[in-house]
Amino acid sequence: MHFSDLGLAEELVRAVTEHGYTTPTPIQAQAIPAVLSGGDLLAGAQTGTGKTAGFVLPILQRLSQNPAQGASTGRAPVRALIMTPTRELTAQVEESVRTYGKYTKLTSMSMFGGVNINPQITRLRSRIDILVATPGRLLDHVQQKTLDLSKIEILVLDEADRMLDMGFIRDIKKILALLPKKRQNLLFSATFSDEIKSLADNLLDNPALIEVARRNATADNITQKVYEVNRDQKRQVLSHLIKTHQWYQVLVFTRTKHGANRLAEQLEKDDIPAMAIHGNKSQAARTRALAEFKKGDLQVLVATDIAARGIDISELPHVVNYELPNVPEDYVHRIGRTGRAGSDGEATSLVCVDEFEYLRGIERIIKRSLPREILAGFEPDPNARAQPIQMRSSEHQNAPRGRGGPSRSGQGQPRSAQGKPAQPGSKPGAPSAGPGQPRPKARPGGEVAGGRPGGSHRSGGRGR
Ligand code: AMP
Repeated sequence: MHFSDLGLAEELVRAVTEHGYTTPTPIQAQAIPAVLSGGDLLAGAQTGTGKTAGFVLPILQRLSQNPAQGASTGRAPVRALIMTPTRELTAQVEESVRTYGKYTKLTSMSMFGGVNINPQITRLRSRIDILVATPGRLLDHVQQKTLDLSKIEILVLDEADRMLDMGFIRDIKKILALLPKKRQNLLFSATFSDEIKSLADNLLDNPALIEVARRNATADNITQKVYEVNRDQKRQVLSHLIKTHQWYQVLVFTRTKHGANRLAEQLEKDDIPAMAIHGNKSQAARTRALAEFKKGDLQVLVATDIAARGIDISELPHVVNYELPNVPEDYVHRIGRTGRAGSDGEATSLVCVDEFEYLRGIERIIKRSLPREILAGFEPDPNARAQPIQMRSSEHQNAPRGRGGPSRSGQGQPRSAQGKPAQPGSKPGAPSAGPGQPRPKARPGGEVAGGRPGGSHRSGGRGR
């Protein structure tokens, strides 16, 4: 099959072909015709499946082929809104819009917090057809009346599960209330919790259903390895693996921002070029580290879960779980960074005795056991006893799975766009504000603060 078989216009086929894609991925083969038909869509797809082109291409086509409505006077309206959970994903999706839309006349903009709002306000004065945004900053603009969403024709919620996990449901509902009732809605999610199903029920009208990866399954083309190691030898083991296997591009996950910094410094001492990327870093520092890593100039990028969301590096060969995530779904998201769009990848986890419970949780969710290997020269102490995993509540990214862990209650109130406690509920008539909705969750700092300090809500309550 070829892109032109999917009903895409020549200018879009030309752009993707020039970009090096020859064959549509399964999600693209299904999503593109579905979106072109104008109906709503519910798609279960992980990052790495090619989902971005799956919605960007047909959106470009629909907007190019249908003239804007209500644009006769004043500023041209924003026509498509793509909401994503993180700054990085926002930037990447918008880059895809520009790449695939290079032969169209459509314009786009990315919008996220953590950077000065004024250049965004200036940019909004010109024509923007497609806006890619994180919810918090979007609401800041709405509040300042610098953005009008009343002419949106197509709405995409990308990585919707992640947005809910990050506590954005309240913001999403506020945004939905600002959109015209008649529009096309696309919802992409890697997992389907009851909360996602409820959001989908309220948002989508008779949607086409597409699921390309089994729910919570890990991609078949990823080799998963688990090394059992001593708690205090992980650093040496990681350096050893990188050096002996000559891994040249490795994404390493830690649980905490502090841990990410410390590990990057230690790797540097071992003569392995490394940088940390997490929410406490400035946007400029994150962008720079990511760019160097993508180019291949930086050997190791150490990231926390939230910072790594949406990192899109084609054919990233190695992902290392330096520490296992305390939320098992994060394992699936982490290793989804490798083995992308058909290429092979390797995901290596360094697991010490403290983390065996986490490993069991992961094995339950991926529905397979991961054989544990022992690395010669780094044999774990057979008498080692598990110790509780300490995480500073100020920096951990996800609430621990068990009950009563640090800061499970989250920090602070749901925040409105202005940083004040948000009003309960959303406007009447909001598509998803009906009764029977799950109670809105507190929104932690969100993308503005760069992370979800202490406030994820995926802990024990999910009961999975
Ligand atoms: P996504 O799931 O949208 O984040 O895409 C994952 C990766 O697959 C990105 O690096 C894309 O550039 C790449 N990709 C998307 N579609 C294709 C395709 N049809 N052929 C090859 N690579 C693709």
